[in-house]
Amino acid sequence: MKKNYLLAPGPVQAPSEVLLSMAKPLIHHRTAQFEEKFAKVQKLLKELFMTQRPVITFASSGTGAMEAAIVNCHSAADEVLIVRGGKFGERWGEISEAYGLKPVYIDIKWGGGLNVEDVENALKSNPNIKSVMMQYSETSTAAMHDVEKTAQIVSKTNALLIVDAISALGVVPLKSDDWKIDVIVGGSQKSLMLPPGLSFLWFSERAEEKMKSANLPKYYFNAQAELKALKKNTTAYTPAITLIDGLYTSLMMMKEYGWQNLYDKNKKLMKAIHAGLDALNIKLFSSSPSVSVTAGVVPEGIDGERLVNDLKEIYGVTIAGGQDEVKGKIFRVGTLGYVDSSDIVVFFAALEGCLKKQNYSFEWGVGVGAAEEILYGENS
Ligand SMILES: *Cc1c(COP(=O)(O)O)cnc(C)c1O
Repeated sequence: MKKNYLLAPGPVQAPSEVLLSMAKPLIHHRTAQFEEKFAKVQKLLKELFMTQRPVITFASSGTGAMEAAIVNCHSAADEVLIVRGGKFGERWGEISEAYGLKPVYIDIKWGGGLNVEDVENALKSNPNIKSVMMQYSETSTAAMHDVEKTAQIVSKTNALLIVDAISALGVVPLKSDDWKIDVIVGGSQKSLMLPPGLSFLWFSERAEEKMKSANLPKYYFNAQAELKALKKNTTAYTPAITLIDGLYTSLMMMKEYGWQNLYDKNKKLMKAIHAGLDALNIKLFSSSPSVSVTAGVVPEGIDGERLVNDLKEIYGVTIAGGQDEVKGKIFRVGTLGYVDSSDIVVFFAALEGCLKKQNYSFEWGVGVGAAEEILYGENS
């Protein structure tokens, strides 16, 4: 018998309300019953995306909607600008190259934030660029990029701004309409507190217009077919009916909690993690820290892979290690979705236990205490 705490930057804990709402006999999707439910889900998705425009739902992991964003907005051999500062920036590049696009890269040292002027300069020197692709939160390095400022620059050009907001949606505000973003990609297993299996895609009016002449091949991920189906409150192909039920529950839970309360809570959890790590003399990996996930630099003399493993095996706390070039060098804690103050206290208590096991020098409780001060203190 062991209690588990899932604090990874995706997949995340799903509340029992969400899980139970999916434990029901299936309904048929070509029925008024499904269409009514889907219409309600649409309304809630619009609140989440802060938009008046439709949000497409696919039955795929988040990468599916990234691919959909690319194939619906481009034609053969289009030049594109890609912000590449981690695994997910690399993924924009890999999908683009798979479809024969011609990417120009803005390479950011892992952990760094985007310098928005680099986008401006790249667009000036490459006037043929058709789109700019970036992450809002680059989950692999725990860095957050300034989407609002980037959009101010890109919206003045002919290029579209395509944002992977998979790990940022529902964590920080994302003003799809007001910020003049063109395409937004989302996924279910991050802050939406659902199992993996749904992805989301949103287009500006400008992107929808350009979509009509985009000639890259596509079939399932045809956004125009989905937009047409959405007018009838349904999807072009069989939707993931069960996950849509769960999505309705999770969005209702978020709405009832209050969108702004949710954003405030997430920020507070981030600050508590920063304070706890600082008290333990553990540095942040990112110079532009994300609210969705925090990466700590594994201190000298500590085995980072063992640390992540011990947390799981001894204390039941699942976090993520680093990938590729930072494997064993960083650890990542997610504050996405159904995570609250108590989870952070548990995390630090377990982290201290694991650090002591590797003879790291500190006083018991300093990490927990510093986090508690932010979470429960007078100024909390
Ligand atoms: C999780 C995630 C993805 C999507 O990954 P899937 O495994 O395909 O769901 C893409 N981008 C970011 C920033 C992510 O955090």
